[in-house]
Amino acid sequence: MSYFRENIEKMAGYVPGFQPKTSDVIKLNTNENPYTPSPAVLNVIHNLSGEQLRKYPDTLGGMAREAAAKLNGVSPEYIMCTNGGDELLSIAVRAFCDEHRPLAYPVPTYSLYPVLAEIQNAKAIELPFDAEFNLPSALAKTDAALTIVCNPNAPSGSFTSVDELASLADELKGKSVLLIDEAYIDFAPANCAALVKKFDNVIILRSLSKGYSLAGLRFGYAIAQPKLIEGLLKLKDSYNTDAVAIAVATVALNDQKYFRANVEKVMAERKRLTSELRKLRLAVPDSSSNFVWAKCSRPSAETVYNKLVERNIYVRFWNSPGIKDNLRISIGTPEQNDKLLAALKEILK
Ligand SMILES: *Cc1c(COP(=O)(O)O)cnc(C)c1O
Repeated sequence: MSYFRENIEKMAGYVPGFQPKTSDVIKLNTNENPYTPSPAVLNVIHNLSGEQLRKYPDTLGGMAREAAAKLNGVSPEYIMCTNGGDELLSIAVRAFCDEHRPLAYPVPTYSLYPVLAEIQNAKAIELPFDAEFNLPSALAKTDAALTIVCNPNAPSGSFTSVDELASLADELKGKSVLLIDEAYIDFAPANCAALVKKFDNVIILRSLSKGYSLAGLRFGYAIAQPKLIEGLLKLKDSYNTDAVAIAVATVALNDQKYFRANVEKVMAERKRLTSELRKLRLAVPDSSSNFVWAKCSRPSAETVYNKLVERNIYVRFWNSPGIKDNLRISIGTPEQNDKLLAALKEILK
């Protein structure tokens, strides 16, 4: 006998990337930013007052909501602040999906989506990308209540153009909400924020974990038309973003100069790492993200992964159909990337 709902009892649960206990490893497995956040962020934390912590925080994210709105050229009614981007995914799947209302997304993609569908007991409609990671045309023709496109996609790093996503939003209009997961958008050539003005069925997801170096803080937000935002707000905890997160996110979003400089450094290393990995004869598609997706043939991805672990270098490997020939490697600092490349040279020689 189980105390749990049947689908919860049966499901496996999401498995996050490994977080080593020691810091003497090269950690390129969970797409964290290799650089620390803006000094303004640490300054705000040092200067937090007891008064700020004694009281409940603003339920709507206060100044952080305004900063996010300003950055995206919308009014604050278009923004919902969340406890990381993942909370928005959880809220959206709860809001739109159930036994009779499926979730659809192209695969391979973020492995949290099917887990959220399972929690809701909702069917997950998984449609494969083609070999060039173009969107499957069938994505516009499902009976899903919620369609998610991760863009740039993880783990492939591929990018779908704003025009293509606008067409998809148009085809889904009146039938399905389209959530565009832009967790990695800071490293991409364009973003879909402008689509929310035109489409009443589009939700954009943003995260401060990657581009803003704040994975340890937990702050993300949604951009959508006020009617969608009002509906989503019903599902969130009253105080889902805490006073520290609100204060920190506000200064992080407002320090665009520091953020931009970091993102540029990561993108320069992405270019170098891609070309060096190709010289080692790994197949690496162009990435619009802060990681690369390297295909190994001999030895296998699993072997390369294990040999990197022996050298205290962690990348991401999934022993799952369709993706078990690849390693997803987060872009590190130049020194970390050099050590990775030196190790790979030994392993692949
Ligand atoms: C990192 C990530 C998110 C959100 O992460 P948070 O740390 O919860 O903000 C969402 N989608 C994808 C694909 C991600 O990689």
